[in-house]
Amino acid sequence: MTKLNKVAMITGAASGIGREVAVRLAKDGCKICLVDINEVLLKELESELSKVTQVIINVGDVTDANFIKNTIQQIDESFGQLDFALNNAGVTTAANPVADIAIEEWHKIMNINVNSLYYCMHYQIPLMLKSKGGSIVNMSSMLGLIATKNRAPYVTSKHAVTGMSKAVALDYADQNIRVNSVHPGYIETPLIAHIDHDFLAAKHPVGRLGKAEEVAALVSFLFSGEAQFITGSQYVIDGGYSIQ
Ligand code: NAP
Repeated sequence: MTKLNKVAMITGAASGIGREVAVRLAKDGCKICLVDINEVLLKELESELSKVTQVIINVGDVTDANFIKNTIQQIDESFGQLDFALNNAGVTTAANPVADIAIEEWHKIMNINVNSLYYCMHYQIPLMLKSKGGSIVNMSSMLGLIATKNRAPYVTSKHAVTGMSKAVALDYADQNIRVNSVHPGYIETPLIAHIDHDFLAAKHPVGRLGKAEEVAALVSFLFSGEAQFITGSQYVIDGGYSIQ
């Protein structure tokens, strides 16, 4: 395949879906900035991907707006452009009805799953505009379109990602910046390691969990030139879970 002269930023890159997207983009020849709070896993991935492409890493917390600002400065200094962004770092919550959810827990989820995406897009878009466009994918969930019992903070946060993606897509549609959201069902990653996989698989009409590589293929398509007419869209990848 022809090597892409593109630069990507991925948050939550050290594990699960973010990691698989990084592996796929690296194989396509993208230069990548990997961002995650998990230094050990991020450094492991850096040494693996450095064999095939140019990689920089930034270890830190996406809820710190200054950390995101510095990350974008680092991308500008290292590569001088930003074409693709996967805003993906996210966490889930313990299962509880809303009256039993602590105020601090609520704000923690909103900070990681919602506010960080605003920080990312706020700083990513000016750099994308310097090279006259870009493609942003925000990681929501099927729970950004439907609800499930006892997960109000997560469901609320992922619906916010859906709305934010549509709003920002409109803001920049006439400046060649596309913004889409991706909505996975349950995907085999460390995020859901604590939940019984057979129980979860049975909830998907296809009878299995999704793979991070399958989500990476969708993200790669949304970044690509083949998706030029797609913006403000919600891409469900859930083995039929949400059509029931
Ligand atoms: P994962 O394997 O847990 O990977 C998420 C990565 O983000 C981890 O390396 C995590 O580090 C990092 N991270 C967490 N909080 C962070 C913060 N504040 N700042 C920087 N990095 C942070 O999860 P995943 O399954 O790939 O999930 C990725 C995204 O997909 C999330 O937004 C999730 O909500 C969404 N999603 C996942 C599923 C699923 O079934 N897996 C389904 C729908 C949507 P630590 O592990 O050290 O915290």
